[in-house]
Amino acid sequence: MALVNPNFAAELEAFGVDTALECFNCGTCAAICPLLYEHFPRKLIRYVQVGAEKKIMENAQDLWRCLHCGLCTRTCPRQANPGELILGLRRYVVARWRRP
Ligand code: SF4
Ligand code: SF4
Repeated sequence: MALVNPNFAAELEAFGVDTALECFNCGTCAAICPLLYEHFPRKLIRYVQVGAEKKIMENAQDLWRCLHCGLCTRTCPRQANPGELILGLRRYVVARWRRP
């Protein structure tokens, strides 16, 4: 697997991950997330932006930490919908697990 996949963000749109490129990495979502866990969810959104497909798969279990509280989505200044991106990434990961 290549270190980065330049088409990753586009490929993820089929799974509902279609606002990641709106994110400008301000960190508001990570600051307000009750998990306070390793810059979640900002870090995973950044992986999408840079095409770090392998990093998403390596950190896939973290996607299931999300509580669906919606705080990140409500406070994101760019309408990047971080909470919805996490759900879309789950759909992508499940599809990959089924068909590697
Ligand atoms: S709050 Fe929005 S713009 Fe800021 S890092 Fe999170 S997703 Fe990106
Ligand atoms: S929806 Fe998930 S990622 Fe967003 S603030 Fe809540 S727990 Fe954190």
